[in-house]
Amino acid sequence: MTQPSARTTVVVGAQWGDEGKGKVTDFFAGESDFVVRFQGGNNAGHTVIVDGREYKLHLIPSGVLYPRPLSVIGNGVVIDPKVLLAEIRYLQDRGITPRLAISDRAHVILPYHIALDEALSGHQGSLSAGSTRRGIAPVYADKMYRHGIRTIDLLEPDIFREKLDKAYAFNQALIEKGLGGRLDRSREDIFHEYVDYGQQLKPYLRDVGCLLDEGLRQGKAILFEGAQGVSLDVDHGIYPHTTSSNTVAGHVSVGSGRTFRRIDRIIGVAKAYVTRVGISPFPTELPEKDARDLRERGQEFGTTTGRPRRVGWLDLVQLRQAVRVNGLTELAVTKLDILSGYDTLPVCVAYRIHGKMVREMPASLADFRAAKPVYRDVPGWGSLPPDVAQRPFDQLPEAMQAYLKFLEDELHVPVTMASVGPQRHETILK
Ligand code: GDP
Repeated sequence: MTQPSARTTVVVGAQWGDEGKGKVTDFFAGESDFVVRFQGGNNAGHTVIVDGREYKLHLIPSGVLYPRPLSVIGNGVVIDPKVLLAEIRYLQDRGITPRLAISDRAHVILPYHIALDEALSGHQGSLSAGSTRRGIAPVYADKMYRHGIRTIDLLEPDIFREKLDKAYAFNQALIEKGLGGRLDRSREDIFHEYVDYGQQLKPYLRDVGCLLDEGLRQGKAILFEGAQGVSLDVDHGIYPHTTSSNTVAGHVSVGSGRTFRRIDRIIGVAKAYVTRVGISPFPTELPEKDARDLRERGQEFGTTTGRPRRVGWLDLVQLRQAVRVNGLTELAVTKLDILSGYDTLPVCVAYRIHGKMVREMPASLADFRAAKPVYRDVPGWGSLPPDVAQRPFDQLPEAMQAYLKFLEDELHVPVTMASVGPQRHETILK
């Protein structure tokens, strides 16, 4: 692999998450000076295989597995300190001492956020977002209410206590009086536990915006690692069936403090088919009897829950939005190997909604629920030659090349990476 010439690269999900971003970020991570997360929390998860060893990371950027980069957790990320400290220990147990910088402005998940998440899930019913119940939505809500607790507060007990008094009372009332739930942790208990977490995290806390700005001036290579995907973005996704943060590339600056100028590459990662965890309209979803086969081949089961993912055909309406909103400079297409053996591959090029052809993602939930996919059948590539991973891009099976060219023409963006297996060497660059 050659060293990427671009100095700042952003990798984001172009669908509903689980696209294989871990593999694509990993590709750049080793040659970067900073690998930065800018949104989300431990509701994300990457699987990275390095030297045949599999690592599961939820909060710490994948760059942590390499000696060169500093792993950065930006202010836009929400941090459960217990989970973060456990992840640090997980790495230490495997002989890796994390080089880590954590924003002093990042918001902290507290036990009442998790209790509130639990109580909310029952309340939202069919409009729920399929919460992972890790307190992510409540912590972002507290940030907007402006009684959130930031990492820096854990180091200042008087300020922490002042803020906690307000936040605890508010959340307790909401959970117990508003939603009939239960908060079984006392304020004092939480205070002492979190002051202690603060001390453990202290060596890592930094002004991340200044750190990255300095890096930018020195011409260092910065990689931004997105979590989830565009259809889960709280503004641009299928609201309210979204996550609680902005997942799109435009958020890198807000979520890290590094300027949004001078970004060289914005890579969208798309799986060659689509998967979705949780509730929402899903126009290209396969009926269960057809879904089972694709799910098994692609091993589409939740990383932590083991729950089967919903699966469907590639959706260009979704990808069109991903290209436009993120300003993608290129697309990486993963899991092409999983589609081997089909004679034809249906690709959704538009939705039919109440008799009208629609090429862009609708805002209306009613329209989304009514959307029927309009497919174009493109020829499949049969089984893959055993040496496929060793081939240059222009010697991939012709039907696969034609399929990728079809995506380029429809989406007006180059496909620069094609992935045909989970291993690092199974990624073919154009
Ligand atoms: P993320 O949520 O987008 O970061 O998704 P992950 O990086 O966790 O990827 C999901 C799974 O797909 C992981 O187990 C990867 O090893 C696997 N994977 C990634 N690319 C490919 C591919 O091209 N082919 C196959 N078969 N598996 C892949």
